[in-house]
Amino acid sequence: MAESREAVTFAESVYALSKVVHIAKFRNDVSLGLNEHQRKHLRLLDDIALLLVTEPKSDVAAVALERRSSEVHFYYAKNCPATHIDELIAVLKGIGTPTERSEKMLDKVMLVCRAKILSRHSKLLVTIRENKAVDGPYIRGDRHGELHGYFKSNFSDWYAEFTTAAEFLTTFLTVIEKPLPSKSEQLFDILRMAHVIGSYRPELSPDTTAPQRPPELIFIDPMLNQRIRLLGDYYGAVKRIVKHYDLAAERQSEEIKIKIHPAPGTAQLAATMPKDYLTILNRFATERNLPTATYATIAAAYPICTPAPTAGKPLQSVLHSVHAECTLAVYLTSLGRPWTNIEIGCSKGSCWLCEFYLSHTQAGLAFHVRNVHGKLQPGWTMPEGGDAMVEKSLRELVVNEVIEVMHKAHNGTRGDSQPRSESDEDEKKNTEPTPIRRPFWV
Ligand SMILES: [Zn+2]
Repeated sequence: MAESREAVTFAESVYALSKVVHIAKFRNDVSLGLNEHQRKHLRLLDDIALLLVTEPKSDVAAVALERRSSEVHFYYAKNCPATHIDELIAVLKGIGTPTERSEKMLDKVMLVCRAKILSRHSKLLVTIRENKAVDGPYIRGDRHGELHGYFKSNFSDWYAEFTTAAEFLTTFLTVIEKPLPSKSEQLFDILRMAHVIGSYRPELSPDTTAPQRPPELIFIDPMLNQRIRLLGDYYGAVKRIVKHYDLAAERQSEEIKIKIHPAPGTAQLAATMPKDYLTILNRFATERNLPTATYATIAAAYPICTPAPTAGKPLQSVLHSVHAECTLAVYLTSLGRPWTNIEIGCSKGSCWLCEFYLSHTQAGLAFHVRNVHGKLQPGWTMPEGGDAMVEKSLRELVVNEVIEVMHKAHNGTRGDSQPRSESDEDEKKNTEPTPIRRPFWV
């Protein structure tokens, strides 16, 4: 076939690797090198980025802020157009108490981010049903009094009708199992509850001689806690943004001017790749006189690789796009400002190649993100107009990784790849061993 003589492209290598390795084995926990100030700033930026995501899938936002005396310059990159930023800022700077403005902002967010909120809601529903399918709830029974006090202090207005925390949690789960209300007021309440429940963090025991276990969450299944927290993130993000803005405004004698700078958009391109990714790997091997592999040798070295395709459609649709954090990094670099460190907030964790790209930028300029999930995304695309040296290193990185895969498959060595995280868009599943299911709250 003529096709087999064509050189393997970067896009093909990335796609084939994503079928084999899934998660980069040498990912760095970039957040480890951050100081407290950077962490706080990144948290705020991640909150802002979350509110900009309007589509349930394939929309990601990356944002950065720069203070210049009384001006705040807001830079962002996003896959789908953002139309609500001005409205959000108007409410943020408008009149009203912090709670009133938070509610108004959440109203606006719920209008444009509804698809994303619904997507998080349906994922939570799946997890609730999975928990029920085992032998029913899933709520720890040993923190009754403490939780009751916690909910009472957070929901002083309407928690009074509940006599126990269990009753409240059961009501909450029942509400979640119904379709989300269309009235923003009721949806607001649900997101608020999800936020309070999801952000519950019990104190560690003050007795330092006792063995310290990690704090136990409300639900036995860590995924259930996480899904509730993710649904509540919208409420939390709005509250934190309003609080942060008010603190900044208090310190400022004149009005804070917010200037918005969108990065030039990049096209997302739907293309197809062969499901038979082994042909790509073997074309690559032939080009470089490396031993070829079979699905069996790949699977022996990488047990969680995608299995050999069965009969059916030979092609898979893959969305090729420049990830928002790379688009923003290239845009910010192009402005030529005297920056040395730039924090970038993202609506989801950064992938392996983005992390590499951001951490290998030109001398003197460092980009920081808070979360890296380290996965390999099949449609990852190099940003245009970026640093040529970084681009070269990244291409080499991918080539070397494919070479390693071929060697490991040939030698029968086990790769270090980790299982693919199931479905969550934001974070890895907690790796705690599966807990023993206990009966409902006692
Ligand atoms: Zn990425």
